[in-house]
Amino acid sequence: NRSIRLASRPHGAPSADNFRLETGPIPSPGNGEILLRTVYLSLDPYMRGRMSAGPSYAPPMEIDDVMVGGTVCRVVESRHPDYKDGDWVLSGNGWQDFALSDGTGLLKLGAEMEHPSHALGVLGMPGFTAYMGLLDIGQPKAGETLVVAAATGPVGATVGQIGKLKGCHVVGIAGGAEKCRHAVETLGFDACIDHRAEDFPAQLAKNCPDGIDVYFENVGGKVFDAVLPLLNTSARVPVCGVVAQYNSTDLPDGPDRLPLLLDTLLKKRMRMQGFIIFNDYGHRYDEFARDMSAWYAEGKIKYREQIVQGLENAPEAFIGLLEGKNFGKLVVQVSEA
Ligand code: NDP
Repeated sequence: NRSIRLASRPHGAPSADNFRLETGPIPSPGNGEILLRTVYLSLDPYMRGRMSAGPSYAPPMEIDDVMVGGTVCRVVESRHPDYKDGDWVLSGNGWQDFALSDGTGLLKLGAEMEHPSHALGVLGMPGFTAYMGLLDIGQPKAGETLVVAAATGPVGATVGQIGKLKGCHVVGIAGGAEKCRHAVETLGFDACIDHRAEDFPAQLAKNCPDGIDVYFENVGGKVFDAVLPLLNTSARVPVCGVVAQYNSTDLPDGPDRLPLLLDTLLKKRMRMQGFIIFNDYGHRYDEFARDMSAWYAEGKIKYREQIVQGLENAPEAFIGLLEGKNFGKLVVQVSEA
């Protein structure tokens, strides 16, 4: 049983030596337990936070812990009355080949899922995050302008497409021409701006001629600086993530922009609200599952994933995720279906 463990805590961006591959025996299930084989492992930005020791909404991993992560698994041996060999389940087994479970926290995925890995993306945690953050906090209305960054990732792509379903003018922000083309041509956004372009703030302003009513915050940093002056009176800003800051060790150089933020919040009577999806909205999962599975089945929501082969390649892929090297939802195929 291979597992990837936290070898040391990163200072700034993680590097290969923060991870350690370990091999041990495959565990055997006791009475009331099942043995799960990981088929797909989800890689998500929040994992960076768990590698650090600082206080957060969830406790950090300890050194030598198996790296945390959502997984789609097959039951390989069941000694539990509710599960049989071959069942697909959504689990949180982390970065390893096999794990035991007594059924706590497992979600059955049904026998014949066409794309079981989609339960880690559009039909799972990131899709749920997009749905609740946008609809409950963002409150988008037809005709309003919605801006979302990390526009081709599983959260951003879903936010923008739900925004289009609600009749908004949707402007994405993404890293590079290919991602921007995808956001417009495949996801149906009205425009998408490359945040690496030198005139990015000017391009953003040009594509939001009526200002911004909803800004779905996924990245922070320079992107938020460009968005702030464009926000309209009564704008809503769901604060979902600040991935541009996850590897930061210090506050950025330059003038203190906190007074500007407070001044804008007051004068524009804006609402900014952070949320942690399962803590705040776990009780509303059924609403999401009902709407999203219907939209997805009807082809109204498109989904792109990038599948990396082999558990041993998870660290490199994860390091790249924090630099925008992924294009779509990043998933590791750990074993054959
Ligand atoms: P993505 O697959 O979109 O990956 C992160 C993306 O962020 C990268 O691909 C890159 O896209 C972008 N990015 C990275 N660094 C920078 C930077 N310096 N400036 C601008 N963009 C950058 O991730 P997810 O869709 O899974 O997650 C999106 C956000 O949602 C994250 O902040 C995540 O932490 C948050 N989240 C929050 C949850 C909650 O409960 N609050 C739950 C789930 C996710 P590009 O190349 O296009 O810039």
